[in-house]
Amino acid sequence: MAIAAPPIATLLDRLRQAYPDARCALDHRDPYQLVVATVLSAQCTDARVNLTTPAFFQRFPDPASLAAGDPGEVEALIRSTGFFRNKARNLLGMAQALVARHGGRVPALRSELARLPGVGPKTANVVLANAFGIPALAVDTHIFRVARRLGLSAGSNPDRVEADLCRLFPADRWIELHHQFIFHGRRVCHARKPDCSRCPLRDLCPTGLGHMADPHTGQALSAAAPREGAAVALPGAPGAGPARIVSLVPSVTELLAQWGLGARLAGRTSFCVEPGWLRASVPAVGGTKNPDIQRILSLRPDLVILEEDENTLQAAEALGAAGLKLLVLRIRSLRDCLEAFRALGEGVGLPELGRERAAALEAALEPRPAKGSRTLTLIWKDPWMSAGPDTYVSDLVRQAGLTPIGPDRYPHLTEADLDALEPQVILLPDEPYRFTARHQAELQRRFPAARVQRLDGRHLTWYLSRTLEALQFLRNLSISAGF
Ligand code: SF4
Repeated sequence: MAIAAPPIATLLDRLRQAYPDARCALDHRDPYQLVVATVLSAQCTDARVNLTTPAFFQRFPDPASLAAGDPGEVEALIRSTGFFRNKARNLLGMAQALVARHGGRVPALRSELARLPGVGPKTANVVLANAFGIPALAVDTHIFRVARRLGLSAGSNPDRVEADLCRLFPADRWIELHHQFIFHGRRVCHARKPDCSRCPLRDLCPTGLGHMADPHTGQALSAAAPREGAAVALPGAPGAGPARIVSLVPSVTELLAQWGLGARLAGRTSFCVEPGWLRASVPAVGGTKNPDIQRILSLRPDLVILEEDENTLQAAEALGAAGLKLLVLRIRSLRDCLEAFRALGEGVGLPELGRERAAALEAALEPRPAKGSRTLTLIWKDPWMSAGPDTYVSDLVRQAGLTPIGPDRYPHLTEADLDALEPQVILLPDEPYRFTARHQAELQRRFPAARVQRLDGRHLTWYLSRTLEALQFLRNLSISAGF
């Protein structure tokens, strides 16, 4: 069975969150210093190199002075970095080549760099990226190990892994990614014993999830399954918040994954299908309206998340009566989303993130949105049902500059009701009812003066995880379609 690699955008976001300080660990002020430090770092720690180079650069501040240097003196200055005779020979040869071929300057060309004594393709990539800002991805031992464990490459040598990573990741993220993977390899994904229980990438990692044997050791990782009751350390919330969350709300499940909490999800409904990798790694506990209470109890969650319209009062009462901690949201407007972001942030141990998301949405809201075309959003057929005022959907439509119409909440509409509403715009989402082009054509014939628009239902109904995106989408639609 092919092992699915993690979604690239999510992985990039997660790495940026986890390692905001990722950068080149070798101290340097110019390309020459970086070449020297990189040559010295072979089989040596960066910290040791950084202790060695200040005295070295004081004595040999540029290629010209090093090219004329005495081998014994160079060896003495770099002895503590190991393999010092070999390194000294390479450094002298490298400096002499720079003077002879490049006017004493480090070239910004991979082919020329790789020809310098002691440099080679890997060091050339490091120098290109860190001294000149030219996208390059040098695969060292940490990157080789981390990339293979994450299922990003099955390559058996660094060149193959480098090719796979360059194919998968956008070039403008290579430099950052290089440092983030190295930080991750050093701090968490150790060679012999990766610290999966504290890993911010575990829910994205086929090795950490136990979907494949560790390609580095050949063994299945014993810490693959979340430890019962153990909190997973996550960026911004080390050890905080509930460790076993059951979400009965599809868009909240997606939001938790966006917040890096996928590893804490102990259960979801069968409608919680985004992001796709959840389906293989988080057990389903029934539908949103008919969750399997016993199944939820057996998962021993320390938090269950529900929403008033999405889930039933009976389910909430049964779970509450069983002593489970519940977080019940009520979302009927975009302003409700502000409170929901904050409550979720508090509830899952990421209060700052919750406040941040609330502030971002609040900034996007119009105090007095325009009152545009009379807009009917249909959500079901046979019988017709619409999302009327006092729903999240209608508030989204209102915020996009349209005027939602129809009776309150989710009424059934007779054919006469439908005609009497005289909509100027009809929105036809593809869920919960799968409206098709045929329905669109039928309604267009029936309301020839109206604009009948099909659209992705998740833009309309997946609150929190897609609210900002949906608002922008509807505003664009409203402008481009002249609604
Ligand atoms: S889950 Fe484990 S193997 Fe996977 S990246 Fe994290 S530490 Fe490495």
